[in-house]
Amino acid sequence: MKTTIVSLTEDTVRFLIEGVDTAFVNALRRTMVSEVPTMTIEDIFYFDNSSLVPDEILANRIGFTPLKTDLDSYVLPEECDCEAELGCPKCRAVLTMDVESTGDTITVYSGDLVPDDPNTAPASDKIVLAKLAEGQAIRFEAYAQLGQGKVHSKWTPTSMCVYQNVSVIPITDKAQAEDCVSDCGDAAVIEGDSLKIIDIQKFDSCKRCRELAPHEQILENLKEDEFLFTVESTGALPPQRIVTEAVKILKQKLATLSEKVDKDELHDEISDFEVPELDEGKLYSVGSGDFDEDEEGGAEEGFTGGIDEE
Ligand SMILES: [Zn+2]
Repeated sequence: MKTTIVSLTEDTVRFLIEGVDTAFVNALRRTMVSEVPTMTIEDIFYFDNSSLVPDEILANRIGFTPLKTDLDSYVLPEECDCEAELGCPKCRAVLTMDVESTGDTITVYSGDLVPDDPNTAPASDKIVLAKLAEGQAIRFEAYAQLGQGKVHSKWTPTSMCVYQNVSVIPITDKAQAEDCVSDCGDAAVIEGDSLKIIDIQKFDSCKRCRELAPHEQILENLKEDEFLFTVESTGALPPQRIVTEAVKILKQKLATLSEKVDKDELHDEISDFEVPELDEGKLYSVGSGDFDEDEEGGAEEGFTGGIDEE
């Protein structure tokens, strides 16, 4: 397996991953989306909310506000030894809000959340949460904790996480290919007599690049074991950290699985998927209850019971 970073910005990493199959990249994608933990507000105690936004809606907005996540200082609540309902300083961070309009209508932003720990501040200060007319106020104390996207999407660290095969086509016009590669940056690279199209969308969106190869040819020459991955962070974690954390989690899961295989303990896993046994000659259907057992009596009893009253 070989990886090469194509571009890296504050919130997005694009990298090539080579020597793996679709199942592997999809496992990596799913791990990033649903297993890499981030810090998010989970409990809110309102002291005042006289805005027009109901408590629940406001709580939902606040829950979806990405917070910077310090993975090295906090643990998941289920892995913390405190076992306290509202957590302890190892598994939660406290944020407060105290905003009141004393004159003109004001807008409440995510930047009005005041974190006790500066490492769990909102990733952006500019997310609109509510508006307050004169005399209205929002005051609360909120507890943030680590969580995973598989429990609630508010904990997902990525706002985009996609992969796509690269395509390798033979070069017919060397001069134009060279022109195109220098003009279109990281859309394609020349490898010997071939053109490796890294970013098919970007390549397709350039008129001159498109002349080098029709879209059908690009799709017919997809490389099965090389992908361009694009990971965009919500701001909770640096994008490259999302990838490395996902790899760590995936490795841990595979280690646990292979340990179970070695110890022949897999039947524990498999029994979780047991389906109810089929009665002989009968189709199993959910919610059918014991209707079939006493077809006439059961059906009539239930039915007439309703009509009698009328
Ligand atoms: Zn704790």
